[in-house]
Amino acid sequence: MAATSDILIIGGGIAGLSAAAALSAHAKVTVLEAEEQIGFHSSGRSATMLHYALGDRLVRALTLASRDFFDNPPDDFTDVPIGRPMPVLIFAREDEREALDALDADIAPFAELERLDAAGVHELCPLLNADAVHGIADRRGIRIDPHALLQGNLRQLRRSGGELVTGARVATIAHQSGVWSVATEHGEVHSAPVLINAAGAWADVVAGIAGVRPIGLEPKRRTIITFDAPAGTDLEHLPFAKTVGDELYFAPESGRLFASPMDEVPSEPTDAQPDDYEVALAAFRMEERTVVKVARIHSKWAGLRSFTPDHHPAVGFAEETEGFFWLAGQGGFGLQTSPAMARIVASLITGEPWPVADIAPEQLSPARFG
Ligand SMILES: Cc1cc2nc3c(=O)[nH]c(=O)nc-3n(C[C@H](O)[C@H](O)[C@H](O)COP(=O)(O)OP(=O)(O)OC[C@H]3O[C@@H](n4cnc5c(N)ncnc54)[C@H](O)[C@@H]3O)c2cc1C
Repeated sequence: MAATSDILIIGGGIAGLSAAAALSAHAKVTVLEAEEQIGFHSSGRSATMLHYALGDRLVRALTLASRDFFDNPPDDFTDVPIGRPMPVLIFAREDEREALDALDADIAPFAELERLDAAGVHELCPLLNADAVHGIADRRGIRIDPHALLQGNLRQLRRSGGELVTGARVATIAHQSGVWSVATEHGEVHSAPVLINAAGAWADVVAGIAGVRPIGLEPKRRTIITFDAPAGTDLEHLPFAKTVGDELYFAPESGRLFASPMDEVPSEPTDAQPDDYEVALAAFRMEERTVVKVARIHSKWAGLRSFTPDHHPAVGFAEETEGFFWLAGQGGFGLQTSPAMARIVASLITGEPWPVADIAPEQLSPARFG
């Protein structure tokens, strides 16, 4: 049977769509997404920041390699801005100063940081409690518009003749004579010599369906609440503010504030829903570290952040199975690293030059979990 595409991608989140867009210049690409809309799971539920307090050195290098894309978006991404400037403030109490020093040193090679004293911290974020006395600020943070980013990738894919099929939950996968045949729950069959597994929290499930060894992916739930800011708050100029430890972050959100208690609750791959405990914890920590009273929660949601055993993404062909390509484990940094990750995928599949000098392909290879 002749293949219907050159490359099939399972998953219409930011991972699958950005890879599809990058590959569509070289090959006929089809993306299969289980839901009726793109970005329904993690990609549509994030905190949408580009900042360097996330992850470790490798994640920061991927973020830095993606930065130019957000600063100078290609043509398909200019209809609606894919990001807007928002300063990032990491704040600390006196007893957290050492941790702030360490983070400052870790981030310094990647971003221009400003060290702030108590006055500087409160000038940038007047909502903080008086015990916030140290800070580091990155004035060049970016608040990403995930929908504009997803749509830009989709536009680029379609312009190059690629296709997105929604409502296409992959149910069976077979490999015969070098071709992957994938059938959806509705019985529609797609085939290609290369199959990319960009199924987010479901990536190990999809590998299981294909008979490929899983990588030990761990989805973890994270919760966000929104609520009113105190009357008179200048929301326009508020930063994305984060405790130096992983306890709390908050930022302006559509005329209100959002906050997360930075929970990491292990979960099955699922349509994640907020739990009462983490919702209450978000409100509690907001009141503990700021002058804000969370009188009423306006909205709440949860999403999954999926981690490999070493918390670095898995990108590359499975060792033991021809044509099966992993693109998983983007944890809490999948939006901000998607431009570099898409170029990495294109390099590994088409032989284009390797795009990130500071990272070697072996550091991302799924073979490290063999
Ligand atoms: C609360 C929260 C805050 C975050 N904050 C940030 C942040 O500030 N900055 C940042 O960069 N990142 C952030 N992230 C992380 C980011 O959202 C993720 O890393 C990224 O969205 C992962 O993208 P993905 O495409 O792998 O997954 P998803 O968006 O989940 O896409 C995977 C897709 O695969 C589909 N799928 C699964 N199984 C099948 C199947 N059998 N057939 C067909 N389709 C299938 C699913 O329906 C899904 O749409 C945050 C995440 C959360 C939850």
